[in-house]
Amino acid sequence: MADERRRYLAQQIELGGAEVILGRVRAERAAEPMPAGQPGESMPAPRRTGDAPKWKKGAPPIPGPGLAVTSPTPVLLGNDLASLPTLDAVAERIRTTYCCELCPHRTNAVPGEGNPQARLVLVGEGPGATEDATGRPFVGQAGQLLESILDAIEVPRTSVYITNIVKCRPPQNRKPLPDEIAACIPYLHRQLELIRPQVILTMGGTAAESLLGVKKSLGDLRGKVHTYNGIPLVVTYHPAALLRNPNWKKPTWDDVRIARQLLDR
Ligand code: URA
Repeated sequence: MADERRRYLAQQIELGGAEVILGRVRAERAAEPMPAGQPGESMPAPRRTGDAPKWKKGAPPIPGPGLAVTSPTPVLLGNDLASLPTLDAVAERIRTTYCCELCPHRTNAVPGEGNPQARLVLVGEGPGATEDATGRPFVGQAGQLLESILDAIEVPRTSVYITNIVKCRPPQNRKPLPDEIAACIPYLHRQLELIRPQVILTMGGTAAESLLGVKKSLGDLRGKVHTYNGIPLVVTYHPAALLRNPNWKKPTWDDVRIARQLLDR
């Protein structure tokens, strides 16, 4: 991507121009779905010294440590997720199993997609209508904004892995219930165990609370580098929330630039 365009996207995010970004990205996006489990494009090579990337200008320093958690042992009866050797095997299990009340109502399960060797894993709350219709995560409006944010930090969507806390759409996009999260989250733990990324970025309160196993506000959880099984975990707002409240764009821009710096460490 040309430097000019990167600068433009970064400015739009800082200035709260999501509408402009969305229009452009929609026009530019390739329509083809990315096959699940295919190694994607790799992260760009580090730049020469003195040639600082645009997103770094004004980026906050990496904050201090927050919570340190380890994934709990799954408690589902007969759980054998640890024996599933690949992300494709996990996805197949998700697509062919009912684990909670959400499953019978889905059009498609949405296991997640991206690079099996991703250095960055993004975790949202649960599929919406477009995701349910296509079986792919973050392909609706929130997904388009997410792609613009990734563009602005010079991370190709194909280089990351994107998934959700629950893999089936909650009715009317309501928050998933605690028992639905408890039933589904072992899949995410296994996905993270298989990918073992360098950084996890949770988007929205449900993703942060569920992975960190705490009940706290997003405000309390942001601005620290937590660790999940030793992997740095950064908390930010959900892209859908940014579409509703543009005041959260600037703090989100700061959070993603913290995650980006952690990738460079
Ligand atoms: N919101 C989410 O949390 N996940 C998706 O996949 C899409 C929208």
